[in-house]
Amino acid sequence: MAEYVAPIKDMQFVLKHLVGLDQVNTLPGWEDVTEDVVDAILEEAGKLAGEVLSPLNATGDRQGCKWNDGVVTTPKGFKDAYFQYVNAGWGNILSPTRYGGQGLPHMLATPVEEMWGSANLAFKLCPMLTQGAIEAIEYVGPDSLREKYLPNMISGKWTGTMNLTEPQAGSDLSLVRTKATPQGDGAYRLTGQKIFITYGEHDYTENIIHLVLARIDGAPEGVKGISLFVVPKFLLKADGTVGERNDVKCVSIEHKMGIHASPTAVMAYGEKGGATGYLVGEANRGLEYMFIMMNAARLSVGLEGVAVAERAYQRALGWSRERLQGRPAGGNVKTAPIVQHPDVKRMLLTMKSITEASRALAYWTSAILDRARKHSDEAERKRSQALVDFLIPIVKGWSTENGIDVASLGIQVHGGMGFIEETGAAQHLRDARITTIYEGTTGIQANDLVGRKMERVGGRTALGLLAEIDQVFAKLGNSGDLNLKGIGVALGTANTSARDAVQWTAKTFGTNPGAVAAGSTYILKLLGITLGGWMLARSAEIAARQLAEGQGDAAFLKSKILTARFFAEHLLPQAPALAIAAIQGGDSVLAVEEAML
Ligand SMILES: Cc1cc2nc3c(=O)[nH]c(=O)nc-3n(C[C@H](O)[C@H](O)[C@H](O)COP(=O)(O)OP(=O)(O)OC[C@H]3O[C@@H](n4cnc5c(N)ncnc54)[C@H](O)[C@@H]3O)c2cc1C
Repeated sequence: MAEYVAPIKDMQFVLKHLVGLDQVNTLPGWEDVTEDVVDAILEEAGKLAGEVLSPLNATGDRQGCKWNDGVVTTPKGFKDAYFQYVNAGWGNILSPTRYGGQGLPHMLATPVEEMWGSANLAFKLCPMLTQGAIEAIEYVGPDSLREKYLPNMISGKWTGTMNLTEPQAGSDLSLVRTKATPQGDGAYRLTGQKIFITYGEHDYTENIIHLVLARIDGAPEGVKGISLFVVPKFLLKADGTVGERNDVKCVSIEHKMGIHASPTAVMAYGEKGGATGYLVGEANRGLEYMFIMMNAARLSVGLEGVAVAERAYQRALGWSRERLQGRPAGGNVKTAPIVQHPDVKRMLLTMKSITEASRALAYWTSAILDRARKHSDEAERKRSQALVDFLIPIVKGWSTENGIDVASLGIQVHGGMGFIEETGAAQHLRDARITTIYEGTTGIQANDLVGRKMERVGGRTALGLLAEIDQVFAKLGNSGDLNLKGIGVALGTANTSARDAVQWTAKTFGTNPGAVAAGSTYILKLLGITLGGWMLARSAEIAARQLAEGQGDAAFLKSKILTARFFAEHLLPQAPALAIAAIQGGDSVLAVEEAML
């Protein structure tokens, strides 16, 4: 299958039956987000993704971006696609209504964003980064910046970037060196270099608004001395229109393994004396502001894992139905489509079940993010925020690692042709590979999970969630339906392993942090698999109920149940092994001295 077809049925099932659309539209301001509205939005987004963005995916990969003396040209068709995207209003669905956005819930924006990522990951990054920059300005202001910049960023007339990374400051942003010197008129002069800046320069729009982390002269060392600035590519005239060029330049773009149509820029600030920048919020609180926005950004990148996995699955499934090879075990035809071979079916089901589990977990997290931001009850907002904080590193880390695994399996399903670029399977793996790195590597997500999100709170949020899973396990484990019973039992075993690992982490972190750090990625995966299995178990339970009541599409519902059973039998058994590796494996890591490596 060459072009992407949005998996609207699965998206609708997850939104309507699994993650609580009926609750999100009780939140203030979202009463109109009804099932009909959701259906119409998914349908329209699916058309743009499949008909406009998807056909540019392979050509964008082949052509890549070109740099010439500071000017970046994106591949043919991308600029036009960008205008189709913003003119149809897709760029502003999450943005505040006060500045021209639609202010829709994350829960609805999430499947839409998944579609852009599946259709064309390189394209999707520009709106994603713009959204991050909009949120930064919106949250922390001041009003003067909001009014000057937000309307044009929200309409898509200008785009935004996030400039954090420097050659010596990647995962560790306390090492940021870019300098900001007060000009005396309220503005600052920025000097320094940023690297790896996604869409730092491009030809889509007349202006680019950079959000830049820098240190004000005399600021304290480390994370407490970093401030956030708006630095526009073109300064604005008094009437708000684009004026003179600011002292910021794209000095080169990177040659990369994937996402070739997304320019990754090296940015020089202040080669001619200093780029004019404006402080966002208070001085020295820049990193704290970045962390406020990090949840949404990491959820977006986690979703990229789901998106690429979906696309890779669709391509592999299409191929497996057309490619004829060999006699399937137990079959009586001489040559059959490879989809009929049990081992190929196993690979496809692995791809499908992991994708559906990761999707459900990401959508559920976005629904909780909405509750954390909008619920009328403060206690519920706090509870939801703690849950989102806990879930985000899992969604980011687990889903992106899954995206790579699924894209790699997609190549395997294609055989030798998967390794040959023309089938498109290889591009998915190359594109997916960055998702476990940017916006915080899997190792950084795992550190965050076991430290801030578990040890500091004694594992309370995690244990509360695992107690909820126990209830599903108890119910399904005693079911008379053999599919549900098997799913319930496997979920129960995985849940016990997850609980052991969480309790061990909370107990051990204070005395032996190295051992916990050595196994933190296993703990992240263990929680991902368990929570993903829980999502699929609940899907199976809902599907079985709908089937019994004669509702819905029987083939789709049966597939939901069997996909959950497959995940329970093939993926959930990894949980005990991951717990053992996490709990017992730290010593061997710590015993090996650096010189022995
Ligand atoms: C294509 C692309 C686009 C990007 N877009 C942007 C962008 O728009 N804006 C931006 O600011 N940046 C961007 N980045 C930068 C990206 O966020 C960083 O590359 C990423 O955060 C990792 O930092 P690093 O490359 O310096 O790796 P390092 O920090 O050097 O990490 C190397 C390895 O060490 C591990 N490690 C490091 N510290 C720890 C620790 N404390 N505990 C355990 N393990 C650790 C990491 O997990 C990793 O495996 C982009 C990068 C790329 C390649």
